[in-house]
Amino acid sequence: MLPFIRSDLAQFTAYKPHPSSGTAQPVSSQTQLDRLDTNESPYDLPPELKEKLAWTYQQVIETNRYPDGGHEELKNAIAEYINESASLGTSVFTTANISVGNGSDELIRSILIASCLGEGSILVANPTFSMYAILAQVLSIPVVQVTRNEANFEIDLTAAQTAIEQTQNPPIRAVFVVHPNSPTANALTTAELAWLRSLPEHILVVIDEAYFEFSQTTLVNELSHRPNWVILRTFSKAFRLAAMRVGYCIAHPELITIIEKVRLPYNLPSFSITSALVALQNRKLLLNSISQTLSERAKLIETLSQQPELQVWDSATNFIYLRLKQNHSHPQDAALKNLNQKLKANGTLIREISGGLRITVGTPQENIRTLTRLQAALTGLKSEQLTQ
Ligand SMILES: *Cc1c(COP(=O)(O)O)cnc(C)c1O
Repeated sequence: MLPFIRSDLAQFTAYKPHPSSGTAQPVSSQTQLDRLDTNESPYDLPPELKEKLAWTYQQVIETNRYPDGGHEELKNAIAEYINESASLGTSVFTTANISVGNGSDELIRSILIASCLGEGSILVANPTFSMYAILAQVLSIPVVQVTRNEANFEIDLTAAQTAIEQTQNPPIRAVFVVHPNSPTANALTTAELAWLRSLPEHILVVIDEAYFEFSQTTLVNELSHRPNWVILRTFSKAFRLAAMRVGYCIAHPELITIIEKVRLPYNLPSFSITSALVALQNRKLLLNSISQTLSERAKLIETLSQQPELQVWDSATNFIYLRLKQNHSHPQDAALKNLNQKLKANGTLIREISGGLRITVGTPQENIRTLTRLQAALTGLKSEQLTQ
């Protein structure tokens, strides 16, 4: 233990970006892995956009110069996209409502610094996106956790309300929700929304719409009369730019001013800014693949629901969540690990999380392999359990 390091960081478990670097190896190093563990788009940028970006890199970007630290052009393009996708007038959201970050992860951290650092706790409902709690812990911000209904993953609102009323030293200053949630793929319900709307204005409500392009449900329409709400979005999923690390948030201008004070001056590399601009200019082309993802999702859910061992939930996004039905003679976690490892050994990476499996919808070919490999793994699991 280094004597100059905060003692709480020694115990702390960091986010494991690719749990795939674990034990089982794919059959051969030649095998192309199906990477269905991080909810990215299965499609790289089309070649013509890559060429355009390569040209920009060669002809326009001066690598010796700092990037545009004000992000005006990108914010303008984002505002236009937000207004268009929410069917709002062209000037409802402007650059004053937007801040961009090095992935939405950076914005989550800025929001935590701006609202809670040294003064407040956050509330999350598990299972949910782990980065909220991880980033809070790094900043020594206490995390209050409530659970969700095991049948439909709705937040335990009674527990959440009690936590808001009773948490002291420090009190809850921010509530984090994903809409739709990860890993459970459910959108916020009417009751959950009513509860979020009922929260007092001294509590910040962070609504993470990372999967907006798949769910097509957004709460941006409510932002104008909710100064304590902030919506997070990202280019890492539907826009196919996970490698570029660009996220943005939408909120009341006063809150945006504070978030802008907290961020690092040149947080986005020039190439990332350009990539996001090109993606937005070509959004029709890029978002074209979404309808295929949604029909592939329906096929996956339908087929997997026919497996008697599995409980599969509906999904409002580009991944599905499932669990093994209760089988009291066998521990769930061991069985899930077994399935996950069998899939990995055959070349499909998925995510074992919160007592279930989260599977990203991939290309049609990947999804066929997912089904074949998962069915084979289930058969293997059953015969292993019978011979035990
Ligand atoms: C993938 C994801 C993000 C995106 O994070 P970036 O830092 O923008 O890549 C944000 N929130 C949730 C819930 C996600 O699943």
